[in-house]
Amino acid sequence: MEPSRFSTAPPPTPEPAESVEPSVARRAARAVRSLASRCFSGVLYRVARDFVGGEELGDALKVASRMASNDLNSTLGFWDAPSYTVTRITEIYFQAIEDCAACGLDTYVSIKPPALRFDPRLARDLSNFAMKKRVRLHCDSHGVEVAEDALDFMKVMMESIDGALLGITIPCRWERSARDTEFAIEHQLNVRLVKGEWPDRAGQDRDPRRAFMETVDQLSGRARHVAVASHNIPLALEAVNQLRASNTSCEFELLYGLPMKKLVESARAKQMKPRIYVPFGRGYAPHALKVFKTNPQLALWLGKDRLSRLIGK
Ligand SMILES: Cc1cc2nc3c(=O)[nH]c(=O)nc-3n(C[C@H](O)[C@H](O)[C@H](O)COP(=O)(O)OP(=O)(O)OC[C@H]3O[C@@H](n4cnc5c(N)ncnc54)[C@H](O)[C@@H]3O)c2cc1C
Repeated sequence: MEPSRFSTAPPPTPEPAESVEPSVARRAARAVRSLASRCFSGVLYRVARDFVGGEELGDALKVASRMASNDLNSTLGFWDAPSYTVTRITEIYFQAIEDCAACGLDTYVSIKPPALRFDPRLARDLSNFAMKKRVRLHCDSHGVEVAEDALDFMKVMMESIDGALLGITIPCRWERSARDTEFAIEHQLNVRLVKGEWPDRAGQDRDPRRAFMETVDQLSGRARHVAVASHNIPLALEAVNQLRASNTSCEFELLYGLPMKKLVESARAKQMKPRIYVPFGRGYAPHALKVFKTNPQLALWLGKDRLSRLIGK
């Protein structure tokens, strides 16, 4: 089934295709694997919830405040699910802006334009309110097929909020990424640079590592501010080093729940304060669970990280 234009759920990871009719032994092995996987799912779900800043805004604010006491800035990122209405999603964004203004933390609100149906009236109302409260708003990025709708949404926001209070996510893997980067530079928006979870149209994807650094080249010395959002340690360090060498304001932005010790240490050694994106809402735990299932390496990595924290190393 085609994903809806308004879905914010990341694209599914394709299952490997079965080329020939599976033998009885292969089908039996698959049934055992599926049973084990269902038993394991309960455990994984508990670990996955560890990735999340909670279901409610209040939970995420507690995490943000804990981050602040560890000298970390934050981002509040609400993840919707089909069970939320647009009205409810909008209320959550308004409340997040209100609470950000009141909490005294260095935090901002990340929004998902597809969840708001790219409604220009909501773009205007939210940016007016954020401008009044002097709270920074940022748009997450989604599929390439809705990138133009997202840009139109952003253009409406720009009519009522300063560039200093507005941010755009640039996924570097698309053919259109360089044009979007130029747009962000021209309008002096804050940029969050990511590899991008959604692929470009068939066959047009750029090599993510090379594209990441080419976008850093493009932004260097020209962008208002760049958040380097990658957990790939050598890549994130190279990007930040280059941005700093060109006197471009920048920071590391990392995802709450993923191991970040080395990048946080590196940031501190550079007298930089990393920012942690705190996802909250019913939409995120299933995503984290999917990531675990498709990336067992990550479970190992996270396990090692938790263990070293437990034994204090
Ligand atoms: C703060 C932040 C905000 C983001 N916002 C967006 C957005 O708005 N739109 C968008 O398309 N993409 C977004 N992303 C995701 C991004 O596009 C990449 O898909 C993701 O970060 C993986 O690339 P990498 O460079 O971090 O690391 P890789 O080299 O691909 O991975 C390094 C390690 O980190 C793990 N890892 C990294 N990210 C995740 C994750 N999300 N969940 C589980 N494990 C992970 C990997 O499994 C791997 O073990 C964001 C990422 C971050 C950190």
